[in-house]
Amino acid sequence: MAHPQDEAQHLSLTDPETFWGHQAEQLHWHKKPSAVLKRTTKNLKSGTSHNHWEWFPDGEISTCYNCIDRHVLAGRGDQPAILYDSPVTNTKQRLTYKQLLTEVETFAGVLREEGVKKGDVVLVYMPMVPATLIGILAVNRLGAIHAVVFGGFASTALAQRIEASRPVAILTASCGIEGNKGPVSYRAYIEEAISISSFKPPKTIIWQREQLVWRPIKKTEGERDWHKLVKSARSRNVKAECVPVRSADPIYIIYTSGTTGLPKGVVRDTGGHAVGLHMSISYLFGIHGPGDVMGCFSDIGWVVSHSYTLYGPLLTGAATVLYEGKPVGTPDASAFWRLAEEYKINTMFTAPTALRAIRKEDPDNVFITKIGKRGGLKSLKALFLAGERSEPAIITMYQDLLKRYGAAGSQVVDNWWSSESGSPISGVALVPHAGKNRKTNVKDHPPLPIKPGSAGKAMPGFDVRVVDDEGNEVPKGNMGNIVLGLPLAPTAFRTLWEDEERFYKSYMIRFNGKWVDTGDAGYVDQQGYIHIMARTDDIINVAAHRLSTGTLEQAVTSHPLVTEACVVSIPDALKGQLPFAFVSTSDSSGDVKSDEQLFQEIQKLVRAQVGAIASLGGMIRGKGMIPKTRSGKTLRRVLRELLENAVHDEFDKPVNVPSTVEDPSVVDVAREKVREYWHEKGGLHAAIEARAKL
Ligand code: AMP
Repeated sequence: MAHPQDEAQHLSLTDPETFWGHQAEQLHWHKKPSAVLKRTTKNLKSGTSHNHWEWFPDGEISTCYNCIDRHVLAGRGDQPAILYDSPVTNTKQRLTYKQLLTEVETFAGVLREEGVKKGDVVLVYMPMVPATLIGILAVNRLGAIHAVVFGGFASTALAQRIEASRPVAILTASCGIEGNKGPVSYRAYIEEAISISSFKPPKTIIWQREQLVWRPIKKTEGERDWHKLVKSARSRNVKAECVPVRSADPIYIIYTSGTTGLPKGVVRDTGGHAVGLHMSISYLFGIHGPGDVMGCFSDIGWVVSHSYTLYGPLLTGAATVLYEGKPVGTPDASAFWRLAEEYKINTMFTAPTALRAIRKEDPDNVFITKIGKRGGLKSLKALFLAGERSEPAIITMYQDLLKRYGAAGSQVVDNWWSSESGSPISGVALVPHAGKNRKTNVKDHPPLPIKPGSAGKAMPGFDVRVVDDEGNEVPKGNMGNIVLGLPLAPTAFRTLWEDEERFYKSYMIRFNGKWVDTGDAGYVDQQGYIHIMARTDDIINVAAHRLSTGTLEQAVTSHPLVTEACVVSIPDALKGQLPFAFVSTSDSSGDVKSDEQLFQEIQKLVRAQVGAIASLGGMIRGKGMIPKTRSGKTLRRVLRELLENAVHDEFDKPVNVPSTVEDPSVVDVAREKVREYWHEKGGLHAAIEARAKL
């Protein structure tokens, strides 16, 4: 007999109407959809047309209503919704659903008075505080669209996103608090970003934090004090009711690195998002409703946190832990286990890089063992990992620890997805029967076994295939491009913000509209488990964050001495990958700088233009070492391979140089430069996984 996860998968692809129709019935619709899926054709201005689709086409829904109001109306208002824990400010706060409703309906009233209407965009640039979730939900309550930008992005990156989304308001705070490094003022970033952007958002609403106050608030420039607005609204009993939107209307935009300099505005549909998350939070993550606690430790600027710190847990009426801190340093490597014990977390979600940081600080697992031994982790049913590949060693280590200290049957689950997909494309479902029947009484069907090194099997609605460069499927076990068949699952994007052409060009043109390209390469094994091995495009995955080589090269070449730059990834034992620059400089200016001086200056530019997260791992300066094709395309892959080989001590290993290379001798120059660099600085670099020596 097929395992329930395989059955759910089969049903979702062969009979999406039945599968998703059942899932949609679990939510409140202001207008029930008369159909589940509509298949259409999209005609682009350029003359191309491609297959398209729409989920729950004529349905109308309010996500905010489903996340808050319906739980309160059902008498669950006293259940905890948000459990805020901030070691960086020494604060804890518990908000019940009823309290959350009061905050959100009032702040939605404020936003309405400040001019926010259905369909408007509101940009959110905030730290991990309850006000951020309240702000996002209030935007949603009005039927407006939020665009959350990671608070670690610097002004240039922020300005690009303001320019692209043209928000009617920005929600921000006076500061973020970066681990044990103290407060970082947001004011300079916001004001500079607004001054760079040609579009000027009319309002900036500021959440003041006592650690660093935003002063003065320039009212004439549209700046407003969040607390004062709320106080005034309360005194006048100003509130806003939920405004439903059509299922296909956007709930939010999330910007993600494209392969060129400009970020891509991934658009999430409202109805599909709610239905898909409500399914996955129960089926995959084992969080079903009141009494369950989710601890998703990612920043709200990333899709993981949108889906599983905020929307997933609240859609189902569970509690979510909002953690303003780091895996280590706030105050130490016990943080996650302390949270698991204190809040009785059932499902924890983080990126493997966080676990590597914990392992570095606490190599003998002293903290988790101590808390585990006193029974503190007995509620923990699973540890989910995503954002980058999890090496088998980290999976097995935590699997052993959870076996000893977690709840019975506790699992470590690698799951693979992206900003575009909105929810996991693959994983191992903790409660597989919930795919077919959410309310079934048949509990405890064991999940599929996990396979360290694999990201599990496909999730409902995602038709995962592995194809060659011509788009033909390859046999099981063979490496290839990982693509998705149409339609994508309901949580996934269907377009980019105001850019249908770019959607087609970025994701569909490569395989003539037949498949959606994920940008990932890997294989599916005989049992159907998916193994994600590498990116096929120019994206660098740093600590589970996507950065584009284009954006980084733009920052590097903004240094006046740099005439040419190529940025590629280098393996890193902690962050998976780091960006690494190859630069050529002009000597004509007479401004002679040492390599180290130049590196520091370029590093500063990268941090200022992209953000600290993009810091370079190293730099090689030289001439005639950046290989190109005859048509002038930079062969980044060649330089990347040279660095990867160097990290594995294989300096002379041949690299794959395409026949279109303009001058093959450039590769030899680069190889020598890498060797020279290694002689001096090679000690700084190490890979996560050793390479098999054949
Ligand atoms: P983002 O859109 O920033 O969430 O990044 C998505 C990308 O991160 C994917 O396309 C993969 O390259 C990578 N990724 C996410 N989760 C995993 C995973 N479990 N294993 C391997 N790579 C992953």
